[in-house]
Amino acid sequence: MKTTSSFASAATVLAGAWLGTLTLLTPGTGLAEPDPSWKVHDWSRPRPPVIEPGTASTPDQPGKPPSDATVLFEGQDLSQWCSLDGSPPQWIVKDGCMECVKDVGYIRTLQNFGDCQLHIEWAAPVPARGESQGRGNSGVFLMGRYEVQVLDCYQNMTYADGQASAVYGQYPPLVNAARPPGQWQSYDIIFTRPHFDDKGALLSAARLTVLHNGVLVQNNVALTGPTGWMKREPYQAHSDKLPLSLQDHGNPVRYRNIWIRELTDAAQKEFTFARDLLDRYVGTFQVDERMSIVVSRQDNQLTMRLVHPNREHAYPLFAASKTKFFAKSVDSQVIFQTNAQGAAEALTFHIAGENRPARKIK
Ligand code: MG
Repeated sequence: MKTTSSFASAATVLAGAWLGTLTLLTPGTGLAEPDPSWKVHDWSRPRPPVIEPGTASTPDQPGKPPSDATVLFEGQDLSQWCSLDGSPPQWIVKDGCMECVKDVGYIRTLQNFGDCQLHIEWAAPVPARGESQGRGNSGVFLMGRYEVQVLDCYQNMTYADGQASAVYGQYPPLVNAARPPGQWQSYDIIFTRPHFDDKGALLSAARLTVLHNGVLVQNNVALTGPTGWMKREPYQAHSDKLPLSLQDHGNPVRYRNIWIRELTDAAQKEFTFARDLLDRYVGTFQVDERMSIVVSRQDNQLTMRLVHPNREHAYPLFAASKTKFFAKSVDSQVIFQTNAQGAAEALTFHIAGENRPARKIK
């Protein structure tokens, strides 16, 4: 007996020491292991950045986000949001919250996110109307694909994997922690994006941890693929970062106090802009007699093709701002110079510490 208990307490101490050094995240798995490059209690090890933590919300007053969060909505405007096609959002802002407007469509963030911690508060409409999935339905779509269900689940019967805080169609929440309609509810979501290899095969699944009103309801669950109605589709390879979207399911669900913290690759912000903005940069730009850059668009992404007399390389471009774009596989940037109409007349091409100006020729 004695052996067992001393073994147990030693194990507890060891577990505590081990947990104290959890820093390395194995990509995509959500599982951490200690970084072997540091000794236990290594004094020379860099300390984590100091931030100011936020404050909790009250029913009347949204809390304050942590100082290092990207604030997506603080009650004033939808400047961080757009419709799915990149056009201005048509949800309304009133009384410090945003409200879904029936049939105007989902809204999404302009900024792209991968691994993240997301805080979002929502309230179902009062009086409660409709039943099951028809009552206070909306949804938080990580990367625009993986839905944490928003639904008025207070005394409203529906299928388990479609309840509030369900990973829709895949995982019911562990408990129903719903508050009555009209009251503010919170989701704190920790999301790990899926990883794919160069050929698009899945290396590791997306993972979700969710607290609903402070209660753990999803514990690092592995998603089978994108969420959907009446189906479980397989994964399809996608970018490392994509916009977050909120669902228009026809019910005037309200949101407030939305903030997000990028957990990896936070240094390089990335955005998805409307196609009509990207189209203004499409064309051929002459660098010198031998080299030109052809910029084209497919869906919401620009590609630059570097054309030499006898070779050619193409690189997808990602938006760091409305005029500054970067490649990921090579250290290269493109900054567009625009005319009064916003169309590119020239660009500056950065590669290997060099800046090369290029004029648009067609
Ligand atoms: Mg929904």
